[in-house]
Amino acid sequence: MDLRLQEIISLDELRELMLFFYEAVGISVGVMDEDQNWLVTIGWQHICTDFHRANPECRKNCLLSEHRIKEYLDSKDYLIYPCPNGLIEVAIPILLDQTTLGFFFLGQFLHQPPDLDYFRRQAIAYGFNIDAYLQALERVPVVSRQRVDYLMRFFARFFNLLTRIGAENQKRLYAEDEIQKAKDELEVRVEERTRELNLALLEVGDLAAQLNASLQQIESLAVTDSLTDTYNRRKFDEIVAAEHGHEKHGKPPFSLIMLDIDHFKKVNDEFGHSTGDEVLKCLCRLIRGLIRQGDLLIRWGGEEFILLLPATEIDEAGPFAERVRLEVEQENFPVVGKITISLGVAQLRKGDSINALLKRVDNALYQAKQRGRNRVVKCTET
Ligand code: GH3
Ligand code: MG
Ligand code: MG
Repeated sequence: MDLRLQEIISLDELRELMLFFYEAVGISVGVMDEDQNWLVTIGWQHICTDFHRANPECRKNCLLSEHRIKEYLDSKDYLIYPCPNGLIEVAIPILLDQTTLGFFFLGQFLHQPPDLDYFRRQAIAYGFNIDAYLQALERVPVVSRQRVDYLMRFFARFFNLLTRIGAENQKRLYAEDEIQKAKDELEVRVEERTRELNLALLEVGDLAAQLNASLQQIESLAVTDSLTDTYNRRKFDEIVAAEHGHEKHGKPPFSLIMLDIDHFKKVNDEFGHSTGDEVLKCLCRLIRGLIRQGDLLIRWGGEEFILLLPATEIDEAGPFAERVRLEVEQENFPVVGKITISLGVAQLRKGDSINALLKRVDNALYQAKQRGRNRVVKCTET
């Protein structure tokens, strides 16, 4: 990770610190980045700003020292050098591990009181106002070589500490940033997966509903007679088993009505089989309109049907059978006109088997046929 000095040190805080240093010690300081841009300059001497750097020729000397510092410092911890304009300057590389991030300068001072003749000559050479130049020179501090050594050791360690802490902090921030990015990415992926899963669940739900509907349809087809849309014997077996169970547990008994069209062969013979089919459908529609919810109309075979009436005693089933008979008798069937039916009625008795009940109701129907058809016969056997 390549870090720049500006990224790991707060320049505002550094500037403030350097200002305190300058106010306390009176020596100019500056910080330069690795591309030799000044980041901080504090307390520069008038002799430098108003004279040396203000004069184009003199300024060349200032810049020359700045540019040569880098190569000087490559092999040194710090460098003390006289600038070509006669002042002492010191520079330290600001390092992070073995990389130079910038330079710290301490300067624009003298080790000994100034050689006034030298500076007077310099003022004449560059055309400075001698008095003003010497006044500026008076403000240049004199700092012993030993003090400078201590200061440089102090600043070398100070910057070492600062860059190390700053870099660690920066690396931590970078790592936190990476962790946050990874978390965000993960969150997005989790959201995407959740959305996909929800969609898949919806699809599965749809499929399950379709499957359920298909199963119901299949189940319903399995117990339905396709011609008359009534139940078939399979449904009868199911319901009778359940009702029989109820009866054993003290529930009210059920009754059966078995009915058969009278002389239906003649209908077929006279009007054709398909008209016979229509009569069957019509008869079933009629009977369905008469029965209660919970009563079952079952096609027993051919033109023979059973009505299963749950929770119905024979005394109630008999009159109902009579009503059905009458309704059929009064109905005008398409094409064929009038038809009649014969009906047998029987009730499930205690300890009765289904076969015994079927036998009794079949016998009652037989009796109805025997006694001249178009009538109801209740099974009175005990
Ligand atoms: P009975 O009064 O004794 O019942 O006389 P029947 O002519 O109705 O005699 P039976 O009940 O024995 O005959 C049933 C006739 O019903 C025989 C058959 O041709 C006819 N049949 C049975 N199933 C169907 C069907 O699905 N469609 C048509 N059109 N006719 C059927
Ligand atoms: Mg018949
Ligand atoms: Mg029959």
